[in-house]
Amino acid sequence: MQTLQVTGELAFKLLNPAISLVLVTTFLTLWFRHRSHTHLLMLAGAFTLSGIAFAANDFLHAYDGPALRVFVNGLFLAAILGACLSAFVRARMPVPLGLFAAVVTAGATGFSWFLFVEPSTPARIYIVNATFAVIATITGYALIRAKPRSAVDWMFVGLAGFIFTLAIARPVATFMDRLDINPGGPIGASAYWATIQALTPLLALTIALSFLAAFAVQIFAELRNQAERDYLTGLLNRRGFDMQAARSIDAVEGTIWQPALMVVDIDNFKMINDTFGHGTGDRVIAAVARALATHAGADIVGRMGGEEFALFYNRARRGELAPCADALRREIGRLRIVDLPAGYPLTVSIGIHPRHQSQTLSEMMKQADQALYAAKSGGKDQALMTALSLNPVPDKRDTGTG
Ligand code: GH3
Ligand code: MG
Ligand code: MG
Repeated sequence: MQTLQVTGELAFKLLNPAISLVLVTTFLTLWFRHRSHTHLLMLAGAFTLSGIAFAANDFLHAYDGPALRVFVNGLFLAAILGACLSAFVRARMPVPLGLFAAVVTAGATGFSWFLFVEPSTPARIYIVNATFAVIATITGYALIRAKPRSAVDWMFVGLAGFIFTLAIARPVATFMDRLDINPGGPIGASAYWATIQALTPLLALTIALSFLAAFAVQIFAELRNQAERDYLTGLLNRRGFDMQAARSIDAVEGTIWQPALMVVDIDNFKMINDTFGHGTGDRVIAAVARALATHAGADIVGRMGGEEFALFYNRARRGELAPCADALRREIGRLRIVDLPAGYPLTVSIGIHPRHQSQTLSEMMKQADQALYAAKSGGKDQALMTALSLNPVPDKRDTGTG
């Protein structure tokens, strides 16, 4: 009985299929949990093809011949194409299918010619690698044309460059007689093939880590967005509003501009809930939110909780604020909500506060709330602005002359 001898060569042959198995499992697991990220499934497919290609080339010596050459090289081509197409799909870029089909057809034709008609191993090596290089170039060019916006986008351009470099380096070394292709013998026993076995794990891991890093960055951005958005209305929640408004205050500091804040509260909302149900209340909140987002002309719109909203204007003109708030009240008065009887009085009260001197956001909020309170106690369905005297800040000139 023949016993299996474990050698360094055997371990080396197992390296690529084993790494492929790990990566296929990783990407399939991720894809099962995030089905909308189709490129994760495509990558699992690409790593599967590459793993099978290595296993076939390294363990099927007995069947070496044109059929195995076509099979192995076809799989490698499909794997590289799969990885590049995954980059297109991830970035939601249109795939130039016609161009890729033309490149693959040209590569396959050249490969077949130098396999069946005028057999030449070096010619096949040039053709296969040139095909890879062109696929990488098309991908890199498309990624650059799509205007990379982040480090992650640039990482994929670099990845295309890496695939291109590997595809160019080997044929050049072969051409310069610096890389033995084992002429006359099986290519699987050549130094050329050994460099593929040794460098593909690096390439596979670089591809996998690039996509995994991009996936992590995207998931974090989505989570952060969710943490700053209100689920019912899609507006910023209090946290998101506070963060953006604080940033805007910093941005106008030292300029001639002053921001302004409005707080909007639906009048007698509890009555709507009690009379028509919580579901109707929700729809009223959502409708008012849409009206604010559409008609307020504010730079930042948030739902601060319950039936209370806030509007932030980066550069406010004091004289325009009250007319703007009144126009907004009229828009809300015109809203038609299916569950509310026609003519049901849906009104809001608004507290307006233009920033005074170097007030913080929470100081502005306190002032706007005071104006809202005054609007409520003054009979609701109105907008009131804080008077400058509401916040008496000693003026240096006055104290100096007084
Ligand atoms: P006012 O005119 O003085 O503003 O009175 P109001 O009834 O509008 O305000 P009040 O603060 O008394 O009641 C607000 C109600 O809003 C109480 C709470 O149950 C309800 N509420 C808070 N969040 C939601 C929500 O997400 N959906 C619904 N349907 N109701 C909510
Ligand atoms: Mg209310
Ligand atoms: Mg309220």
